[in-house]
Amino acid sequence: MNSPAFRLPSPIEELHDERVRRHGVRLYLKRDDLIHPEFTGNKWRKLRYNLAAAKEQGHSRLLTFGGAYSNHIAATAAAGHHFGFETVGVIRGEAHEPLNSVLAFSTRRGMVLTYHDRDTYRHKTDADVLDRLRAQFGDFYLLPEGGSNALAVKGCAELPAEIDIEFDTVCCACGTGGTLAGIAHGLRKNQTAVGFAALKGGDFLVGDVERLQREAFGAVSSNWTVRTEFHFGGFAKRRGELDAFIDDFEARHGLRLEWVYVAKMMYGVFALIEQGVFRSGERVVAVVTGPDQSFSS
Ligand SMILES: *Cc1c(COP(=O)(O)O)cnc(C)c1O
Repeated sequence: MNSPAFRLPSPIEELHDERVRRHGVRLYLKRDDLIHPEFTGNKWRKLRYNLAAAKEQGHSRLLTFGGAYSNHIAATAAAGHHFGFETVGVIRGEAHEPLNSVLAFSTRRGMVLTYHDRDTYRHKTDADVLDRLRAQFGDFYLLPEGGSNALAVKGCAELPAEIDIEFDTVCCACGTGGTLAGIAHGLRKNQTAVGFAALKGGDFLVGDVERLQREAFGAVSSNWTVRTEFHFGGFAKRRGELDAFIDDFEARHGLRLEWVYVAKMMYGVFALIEQGVFRSGERVVAVVTGPDQSFSS
C-alpha cells in the first residue's frame, strides 16, 4: 500500500482584496484544494474514516454512486488506487464514449464503471438493486452518493481545529451538506458556519445537514445557516456574471476558482461582505474545497 503525501493541515492564507478591506472584514482562504493532487480537498476528509472502516471490516472493494461529473467518483477511484481497494462507480444515465475527463481519470485509477438509467438510479439504495450489484461485482463497502455519511461528517469536523488563527465565521460550498455539517460541529463557542448551496432549491439542505449531524454526533448544532441565493441557475450551471467573477479573481489573486462549488461560494462571500452581513471586524475563513480540476494526469 503506497500512501501518497497529504498536505494536512491544509494551508491558511489571508486574501488581500480592496473589496474586503474597505468593509473592515478580514478574509482568509483555507486551502483544502492543496491537500492532495488526486483528491478534491473535502472529498479526502470525507473518505479517510470510511477507508479505515472498510479496511477494518475486511472489505477489499468500494462501491459508490454519482453523476458523470462527480468529484466524489474520481476521489473514490483515486482512493482505491492509493489504498488498495477495487472500486466500482455506478454512474447515473447512459454511457458516453469517449469518456469525459472525470470518468476517464477514474478508469485510469482502476475503477470499474457501470451505468444505471435514471429510474434505477433513483432506487439505487433499495435492497434489490444493491443485491444485483453484489451479484455482479461481489461484496463491497458502500459509500453513499456524494460520499456523505456519519464517518464523512466526522472527517470534516476536524477542519476548524486546523485553523491556527482567530476567526469568527467559516464559509463553505454545499452539495450534500456533509462538509457543512462537520465543520459546524467542529467550531468553538461563538463561531458560526455559513454554507452556500451550489444547486437550485437548496432549502432541503437544512434538513439534510440536521440529519447528518444527528447521525454523526447524536445532536444538531444551531451555529450554522445555509444561503440558497448564489446557485447561478442550478447545479453545474453558470452565467457570464460568474465567469467574469472567476476571471477577475484570478487576475487579482492568481488563483482560478473551481466553478461548480467554490466560485459560487466565493461570489456569495463577497456579496455578503458588500451587503454588510459580514460586519467590520469580522474574521471570515472561506474553505477552498477543491481545485479547478482538469483530471489530466
Ligand atoms: C463535493 C464538493 C463540495 C460539496 O461538499 P458536500 O459535503 O457534498 O456539501 C464542495 N466543493 C467541492 C469542490 C466539491 O467537490
